[in-house]
Amino acid sequence: MNKPVILVVDDDPQVLAAVRRDLRSRYRESYSVVGAASGEEALATVRELKARGDALAVVITDQRMPGIHGTEVLSRTREIYPDARRVLLTAYSDIDAAVRAINESHLDHYLSKPWDPPEERLFPVVDDLLDTWQAGYLPEAKGLRLVGHQWSPRSHEIKNFLASNLIPYRWLDVARDEAARALLEAGGVSPEDLPALFFEDGSVLRQPEPRQVAERLGRPLSAAFDVYDLVIVGAGPAGLAAAVYGASEGLRTLLLDRHSPGGQAGTSSRIENYLGFPAGVSGSELTRRAVAQAQRLGAEFIVPLEVMGISIADGYKRLALGDGREIVTRTVLAATGMEYREHQAPGVADLSGAGVYYGAATAEAPAFRGRRVLVVGGGNSAGQGAMYLARFASEVQIVVRRDSLRETMSQYLIDQIAGTSNIRLRSLTEIDRVEGDGRVERVALRSLEDGASRVEEVDAVFIFIGTRPRSDWLPAGVLRDAKGFVLTGRDLRAADAFARTWKERREPMALETSAPGVFAAGDVRSGAMNRVASAVGEGAMSVRLVHEYLSLT
Ligand SMILES: Cc1cc2nc3c(=O)[nH]c(=O)nc-3n(C[C@H](O)[C@H](O)[C@H](O)COP(=O)(O)OP(=O)(O)OC[C@H]3O[C@@H](n4cnc5c(N)ncnc54)[C@H](O)[C@@H]3O)c2cc1C
Repeated sequence: MNKPVILVVDDDPQVLAAVRRDLRSRYRESYSVVGAASGEEALATVRELKARGDALAVVITDQRMPGIHGTEVLSRTREIYPDARRVLLTAYSDIDAAVRAINESHLDHYLSKPWDPPEERLFPVVDDLLDTWQAGYLPEAKGLRLVGHQWSPRSHEIKNFLASNLIPYRWLDVARDEAARALLEAGGVSPEDLPALFFEDGSVLRQPEPRQVAERLGRPLSAAFDVYDLVIVGAGPAGLAAAVYGASEGLRTLLLDRHSPGGQAGTSSRIENYLGFPAGVSGSELTRRAVAQAQRLGAEFIVPLEVMGISIADGYKRLALGDGREIVTRTVLAATGMEYREHQAPGVADLSGAGVYYGAATAEAPAFRGRRVLVVGGGNSAGQGAMYLARFASEVQIVVRRDSLRETMSQYLIDQIAGTSNIRLRSLTEIDRVEGDGRVERVALRSLEDGASRVEEVDAVFIFIGTRPRSDWLPAGVLRDAKGFVLTGRDLRAADAFARTWKERREPMALETSAPGVFAAGDVRSGAMNRVASAVGEGAMSVRLVHEYLSLT
């Protein structure tokens, strides 16, 4: 197997030689640094690498070249190597082109010439890009391989678990992949045992549960201590931020999640409005960084582990866990966010996981290459989902009940969708039913203008509507609004049951619930802003309040 490649493109021979020399001095052990003197030569090299089956990690290209420009090299490389990181090398006067390229070519970074000293201005950028690329890279013959049926909900569950827990794996569809059948034969695995997860050492897990996979991968599944200062329930942006601050400020901090870190944000293919990431950042990348940061600072992290309930006595909170055990803590942060509500159209429940998916389901998107899919919903999450699916599917239809996306989606996404030829908006339309034999094959779509229903062939339906707070695990003493979102701070005063519930002499703190020492942050909280940044802000702020509460007890 050849080393992964870093490709450098510049028509100025001196610049090309200098960048290659600098990159070689640092990366030659693990990467081949390849040069190209024009856009045309770069694209020929990319096609050659693909034909040889080599991995392309990073492309660094000059912008102004005769013939094919740098931005076009990056866009076309992305079609062949979607995961390769893309960097534009610009003169100071070209910064505008670089900023435009962030949108058009989904640029990861731009570097201004000159980049001296490379230790400060080149290597930190390339180190970071290689780190990100490595996190998702799995050499052809190595690592985990999951074999199963594309339309099996069990396969979907394990794919989703591996992908959202950022565990690289290779998916092999038993109906399409020769390699899948060879693996089954070699491992003595029968079709009834699917899905089956093959490990590098040759061992196999047949029809595994997510918890078994986590255990087999050596992830901790039980708490290290008997008593914690802070237990954070839910590892979305709010929980992860609280874990970073809690651990860094010396609190004995435990973070739990029933499924995977990242929460809703982790399913986003591209978050464009989070501060500090001018080129946008995928939810999985943001999550990878946040988990590494929380763990480095000393937070303990267990996943998958669900919290089923809390009982409170003498100021201590006992959390009942999904595995039957209990953990004791002095404070709790409820950061359990929201989840999609089941769509009620006939057929949806039966085909869930077999072509019907909730949210972006990024792990499934590549399976719909060349197929027709529907996205249901008109919010930003639906817009991002549609843009991501359009990279694979032949046609993506966005189904919304309103007459346009104007009031529900950000303009930057509306513009991106308008500029994507294989996305079509179906306004004033809703799903009547979903049909198919063991997998989605057809949907009946009803027009809200004339009430007419039409059956159309599609291969998948991605649902992005109808969310509800995940607050049902909290005890009755934690007051909620009419929709189930958790009331905190001053908002509690307006609740009828507040006077009966709150027995402290002090007022509840800003993010404190009606149970002293139980805080809430992020989307689960009544009045939340439903943004990554606001969830992160509240998670960070909650730790300050936890300190205050602990100082009172
Ligand atoms: C597809 C998509 C794209 C988005 N894009 C953007 C964007 O571009 N910009 C932006 O600002 N916002 C975006 N958002 C919104 C943003 O992701 C949310 O506002 C944010 O994730 C809320 O964070 P949170 O930590 O409060 O909750 P969540 O992200 O909902 O995380 C809650 C976590 O709690 C866990 N959990 C739930 N119940 C339990 C339990 N009982 N025990 C243990 N764990 C539990 C869940 O598994 C989950 O991981 C997007 C949302 C979606 C769905």
